[in-house]
Amino acid sequence: MIEQKQFDVVFIGAGPGGYVAAIRAAQLGLKVAVIEKDKVGGTCLHRGCIPTKALLRSAEIYRNAKEGSEFGINIDNITLNFTQVQNRKQQVVDQLKKGIEFLFKKNKVTLIEGYGRIENSGSDSNKVVRVETADGEKVVSTKKVIIATGSKPKTLPGLEIDGKYIITSDEALEMEELPKSMIIVGGGVIGMEWASLLNDFGVEVTVVEFLPRILPLEDSDVSKDITRTMKKRKVKIHTGTMVLPETIKIVDGRVELEAKKGEKMLQLSAEKVLVSVGRVAMIDNIGLENTKVEVEKGVIKVNEFFQTTDSNIYAIGDVIGGLQLAHVASHEGIVAVEHIAGKNPKPFNYLTVSKCTFTHPEVASVGLTEDEAKEKGYEVKVGKFQFRGIGKALVHGEVDGFIKLVVDQKTNTLLGAHMVGPHVTDMISEAGLAKVLEATAMDIAHTIHPHPTLAEAIMEAALDVDNEAIHA
Ligand code: FAD
Repeated sequence: MIEQKQFDVVFIGAGPGGYVAAIRAAQLGLKVAVIEKDKVGGTCLHRGCIPTKALLRSAEIYRNAKEGSEFGINIDNITLNFTQVQNRKQQVVDQLKKGIEFLFKKNKVTLIEGYGRIENSGSDSNKVVRVETADGEKVVSTKKVIIATGSKPKTLPGLEIDGKYIITSDEALEMEELPKSMIIVGGGVIGMEWASLLNDFGVEVTVVEFLPRILPLEDSDVSKDITRTMKKRKVKIHTGTMVLPETIKIVDGRVELEAKKGEKMLQLSAEKVLVSVGRVAMIDNIGLENTKVEVEKGVIKVNEFFQTTDSNIYAIGDVIGGLQLAHVASHEGIVAVEHIAGKNPKPFNYLTVSKCTFTHPEVASVGLTEDEAKEKGYEVKVGKFQFRGIGKALVHGEVDGFIKLVVDQKTNTLLGAHMVGPHVTDMISEAGLAKVLEATAMDIAHTIHPHPTLAEAIMEAALDVDNEAIHA
């Protein structure tokens, strides 16, 4: 059966890009449909942000229970019930999925469950999307299409994902039991979050990173510090090391492989290999050949309002590359629909986007690293404060890490903030606000931070910019 409906905006994909922007579009009075082939919430809710953080939370509780004696809490016979860990993760995911479905109903967003593909409508102003649903095909007409199809895990040439021994984060999230050992190929955000949580669960973890440092997009001081703490926790880290896919063998239920570190060959072996070497945009088979949309380096090309080269088609989120983060996808979507609704939105300033890595200790940053600021020609001043000087960090028993602020010497404005330590993912938004408001280090230093809190470290780092930190 072919059913034809007319909308103002049709989204392909209900991840944090598509679903958030659909709600915003409906709030703006537009008639909105969202096409989703799988489940509302996308990668973020089902294979990304939320399930990994649910596992990380269980891992944290397990670690805390084991370390309880330091706090005077002796717990005998601590055991891990990984089935319950997975069940709880799923309950959180299911509850949030229901929440999105409720919000769609509340905002009168039409959800069409099926696979969407843009058709050749023969007109620039009227777009047509064909949807394969379980009950047959539907055709929707719309003034605007927003492509929010997201991304999928990438692998290395020759490194075949078999779903059993060699897996991506997608399969790792579905593991029914934990392996005793895991090699993680790729020391970026996803790889390091898995390294941290598996280590907390007692898995022997080896990280192999091709670049000279893990978390290579973070400030180099942050990479150094997180390497140190991870190594202290017995995570093995090989940087500047290339896995040789042709050497991979399965021997007696274990994966064996060779990796090249300079002139040295490393022989590595583990029960499983987790490949986390980045993600590729989902641009295949969505009908781009029926449009004027251009693709560059594997991602959809857009302008500052996320309009593609086919002006009635927009693209947001992971499918346009750049910072592949849920909150980025959502905000790109909001800018796109506000542009469609004629609201004149401000273009997105990526330098104000906070990035978080939920390792233990956590990592968070916003703006330029010290090296980037220097490369851009700034003369910089740096303020740094270690968590070990903060009372609340000592109370928590979490003293690893620091706050580093990079400031423009001429204007004293904040260029970047870099944090590694307890709960820094919850603290980075203060620096994000400072970036948006173009605050100076003194604005931050003169903001009275309550005592005893971890955020006092931000105030001390701001004071340290002019060597005025009190507890240094
Ligand atoms: P997606 O979330 O990928 O959603 C795209 C949706 O489109 C999917 O539901 C898909 O089924 C649907 N779709 C695709 N093609 C079609 C089609 N033809 N028809 C219909 N539907 C279609 N980001 C953070 O900010 N914080 C984190 O802590 C974080 N952790 C992560 C952990 C992991 C392990 C991973 C993999 C990612 C993580 N991310 C995190 C990244 C985050 O998940 C993505 O940046 C975000 O989901 C991108 O949103 P999106 O809407 O662009 O795409």
